[in-house]
Amino acid sequence: MEILDILIIGAGPIGLNCALEANKNNLNYLIIEKGTIVNSLYNYPLYMKFFSTADKLEIAEIPFISAAPKPGRQEALEYYQGIARQKNININLYEKVLNVSKNGELFEIETSKSKYTAKNVIISTGFYDIPNLMNIPGENLEKVKHYYTEPYPYAKQKIVVIGSSNSSVDAALETYRKGAEVTMIIRNSEISENVKYWVKPDIENRIAEGSIKAHFNAELIEIKEQSVIFKDKNGKVEEIENDFVLAMTGYLPDFDFLKNSGIDLQGECLNPVYNPETMETNIDNLYLAGVVCGGKDTHLWFIENSRIHAEMIVKNIVKN
Ligand code: FAD
Repeated sequence: MEILDILIIGAGPIGLNCALEANKNNLNYLIIEKGTIVNSLYNYPLYMKFFSTADKLEIAEIPFISAAPKPGRQEALEYYQGIARQKNININLYEKVLNVSKNGELFEIETSKSKYTAKNVIISTGFYDIPNLMNIPGENLEKVKHYYTEPYPYAKQKIVVIGSSNSSVDAALETYRKGAEVTMIIRNSEISENVKYWVKPDIENRIAEGSIKAHFNAELIEIKEQSVIFKDKNGKVEEIENDFVLAMTGYLPDFDFLKNSGIDLQGECLNPVYNPETMETNIDNLYLAGVVCGGKDTHLWFIENSRIHAEMIVKNIVKN
């Protein structure tokens, strides 16, 4: 059986960057990806705009040419998939990694289709596959969406948007502009500081003028077929009519997968243990790259600041 120098799990922007870096160093690598190339980006809202400018999303110094300063989903798909195509990156698609275990010096990797052996493994699995659930009654109803794609299904509907992050604000504004009646239920006392600086005044002004209703310091407690029940800032329980709930409550890395691979998780945020200089975990030759590194704190890492992981990891692999 072929022994790979590196098996990379996940073909997100950072997994692709790891592959390019491995190739540059003449290492024999393979990416295994459970969906399409840059699968998380493929599942983003259709009309989203990155908060980063195109140059900050570049990998391996390959220019990201974008007509607008901040590219959108389609341009990013063209960029990253174009790189995978033109650089002939070695990827198996629609194959899920189920288990990583170490047998002596080598890793055995079991997937939905096959088994592999590798000297090093890089986990770059991101955090976009597991919604951060509210764990309230009714959350499993069909009308509750943890992924928002586009505004058109919500025209003339009564929408509740949970949260005040970028995803919540984008969903609230887009659906409001297509004729939805939007109510935001927000745990905090204001719109998140992280909201894109050119979008924040828009949402704040729509709330101030009453076009979008917002309940701050409020908490959703139950979802029914035709209504939702929430606690307002004074602790008063209210029930309002509702057609759809857009629960933009964030996403979580696959902690079970990390734990089963032998990686220690620490603290309240279940931060995976790794050496910040090499990205090597508590298991020798098992590395983490990209946004998966932040544990529950999914705002810590993004493409801009995790692009450097590829070089750090491959440098350490070559040195050893
Ligand atoms: P991902 O892109 O999530 O890639 C992980 C890959 O691993 C996925 O393709 C997934 O299918 C695959 N995978 C997972 N588990 C397995 C498995 N068991 N087997 C095989 N494959 C698996 N960052 C910025 O720098 N600038 C921005 O402007 C920006 N805007 C964003 C907007 C939105 C709406 C979101 C959600 C995030 C944004 N981010 C931004 C953050 C960053 O873009 C993403 O989190 C980025 O996708 C991270 O790249 P990654 O390669 O670490 O992970």
